[in-house]
Amino acid sequence: MDGLQSQNAGVGGIAEDAEEKYRALAYDTALSTLVAVALYVVIKVSLDGFRQWRAKISVLVVGSGPVGLTAALVAVRSGKVLKLTVLDERYRTALLSRPQQIALDPRSVKFLLGLGVDFDNMEGCWHNDHFFTRIGVFQEYLLSILEQKKQRVDVKVQLGTKFTEDYLRQIPHNNWPRVIVVADGSCGDSCSVLGISSDYTVESCHAYGANATIERLDQRQVPTPEIRAHSLYFDLSAYGVEAFREHRNQTTKPGFHLKIYGTFRNRYMALVCPASDTKMVRFLRQTAHSSIMKNIFHQSFNAYKTDIEPRLNDVTLHHMQCSRRLFEIQLSHRRISAAYIEGDNVAVTVEGEAARVLNFDTGCGVNLGMRGLESMGTFIYRTATAVDQTDILEALSAKMLHSRQVAETFKQTGLAESMYE
Ligand SMILES: Cc1cc2nc3c(=O)[nH]c(=O)nc-3n(C[C@H](O)[C@H](O)[C@H](O)COP(=O)(O)OP(=O)(O)OC[C@H]3O[C@@H](n4cnc5c(N)ncnc54)[C@H](O)[C@@H]3O)c2cc1C
Repeated sequence: MDGLQSQNAGVGGIAEDAEEKYRALAYDTALSTLVAVALYVVIKVSLDGFRQWRAKISVLVVGSGPVGLTAALVAVRSGKVLKLTVLDERYRTALLSRPQQIALDPRSVKFLLGLGVDFDNMEGCWHNDHFFTRIGVFQEYLLSILEQKKQRVDVKVQLGTKFTEDYLRQIPHNNWPRVIVVADGSCGDSCSVLGISSDYTVESCHAYGANATIERLDQRQVPTPEIRAHSLYFDLSAYGVEAFREHRNQTTKPGFHLKIYGTFRNRYMALVCPASDTKMVRFLRQTAHSSIMKNIFHQSFNAYKTDIEPRLNDVTLHHMQCSRRLFEIQLSHRRISAAYIEGDNVAVTVEGEAARVLNFDTGCGVNLGMRGLESMGTFIYRTATAVDQTDILEALSAKMLHSRQVAETFKQTGLAESMYE
């Protein structure tokens, strides 16, 4: 009996030993698998991180207007660009001597501050948190910043150089940029050079407007704050339109909004009203008689101009050009604002007025272009660190979606911000 018990105890001991060993083996295997997986993850993450950190691309910006140069600044600040080429068909003098003023709204100012733009070092003036400067002053400032970045990034600014098929052909194939930013303005044709469709979606902003320009060579070309006036009505009784009875009617929409902007030398005016079918609006939309509009702008200018500038008289009025009638304000935006050139592995994005443009000048036009650039940094980062074509296509579709959102938001709130408030 004792012998059997000790035999059983021996067998039990062997079984326990085997189980112990089995458990130890399973534990070792699990541990080493875990260590291997952890090691793999650490190495992969480090290699990906290293690859992303090292990833740098070459970028070409077509057009050195305010939007193209800001896009160039975003590119050099992204840390993902090795080589940047900026083109403009205009020579330096022509590029920097454009007379119009630009008005950067608070959101654009914040965006540009984030890019290192120092407004204290730029000729211009502040009013209502907007910064007003001449377009040429802004462009010159950005060109000087790009010049300073030359130590860190290979920056080439080629003024007097048009982007054409010949230009593209001359780039050696192994030197093609990975990203092309087309910012060649509302009249540029670089998209067609790249084979990008020029189809636009044209959408109503549900408002009517008219613009006027006055050139007064004896006045100063200095940045000047804009003037806004609201709820205006005009006396058109001489033309048989009784405005008085209409604007007392509660159901009619509020009257016209006026903006006077630009330098004292190049004065611009914008007149806008929400779409409505009042007698006055109908009359101004249907009657193409430049003297009526001229008269309205003339009276409005003299009523709302700054005290220190001269009134418009019959002689200066002669230098005023204006719309012949009220027209429907429409925003056109490119159906295709980003594209992939497959054979050459190039991602193209279209920005500024080349991507979307109003048929009405609000005096704040540049801000629409700046909105589009808010997704540029991420786009460059994603393109530079893309592992494959799918990553690039995803980056492009995100860029295109953002471009559409910019247009949509403008349609809903853009005129309110730039004209009605
Ligand atoms: C009369 C007027 C008054 C305005 N007033 C105001 C205002 O008061 N406030 C405001 O904010 N905005 C104003 N604007 C609007 C403002 O000027 C534009 O919003 C702004 O210039 C658009 O910038 P952009 O860079 O998209 O295009 P652009 O400024 O038009 O720049 C495009 C550049 O691309 C270049 N280019 C074109 N084709 C090629 C090519 N094939 N190769 C190389 N280069 C090329 C052009 O030479 C140009 O320099 C005004 C506009 C006008 C016309």
